[in-house]
Amino acid sequence: MTSGQAQRYDDPARPAPIPVPAALRRVAEAAKGFLPDDEADALYDAAWAMAPRGVVLEVGTYCGKSATFLGAAAKGRGGTVVTVDHHRGSEENQPGWEWHDPELVDPAVGVMDTLPFFRRTMHAAGLEDTVVAVVGRSTAVAAIWSTPLAMLFIDGGHAVEHCINDFAHWTPKVMPGGVLAIHDVFPDPADGGQAPYEHIYLPALDAGFTEVRQVGSLRVLVKPDR
Ligand code: SAH
Ligand code: MG
Repeated sequence: MTSGQAQRYDDPARPAPIPVPAALRRVAEAAKGFLPDDEADALYDAAWAMAPRGVVLEVGTYCGKSATFLGAAAKGRGGTVVTVDHHRGSEENQPGWEWHDPELVDPAVGVMDTLPFFRRTMHAAGLEDTVVAVVGRSTAVAAIWSTPLAMLFIDGGHAVEHCINDFAHWTPKVMPGGVLAIHDVFPDPADGGQAPYEHIYLPALDAGFTEVRQVGSLRVLVKPDR
């Protein structure tokens, strides 16, 4: 099997990916974001397996840290990543909240804008031809999206409403045998917010997705073949 051929993510005989180029890892490290190294590696591995089969789509771009790993894998495999975000930040990123970063506020309009930071990250990573950014609300983009997804990574809004929407509107677009990766899954409330666990992860298992891998708060599931 050549590296260009499609493989199943859960095939035990699947060859390991070529390691993330060191230069790209440095770019990802320099980007603001919320993604530990071991979770980044697991995302890269899943995208490497799936990119030959179709589009890899991320909900929740922020400054492009995870998109760098997804993009590095897709580039290595001749694939494409689409990353969706309104770039205005989640509830917890707003001024006065725990995860606010004042550097991310656009002084001209006084609201958050992570798009320029994402653009710098993709430029530095040399991924501008591989990662396609869609700027808009997750629900608005899902409403006009019909291309089957080889891999879906959900890391968008963590409020209950957004998790319910992302599950309902995006997971049906994952192709049979495709991968669903979910970030910030915390079964124990002491570890973090419950919405991704309760409103994405558990419903995905109910819908027949099979969990294949767990790294930190990242869960990787596979959609049944039919
Ligand atoms: N994956 C990123 C982190 C994403 S943070 C990384 O690894 O660094 C979550 C992002 O989701 C924020 O940038 C926020 O703007 C976006 N977001 C939250 N709710 C959204 C919605 N309803 N539609 C589109 N994007 C949303
Ligand atoms: Mg996250």
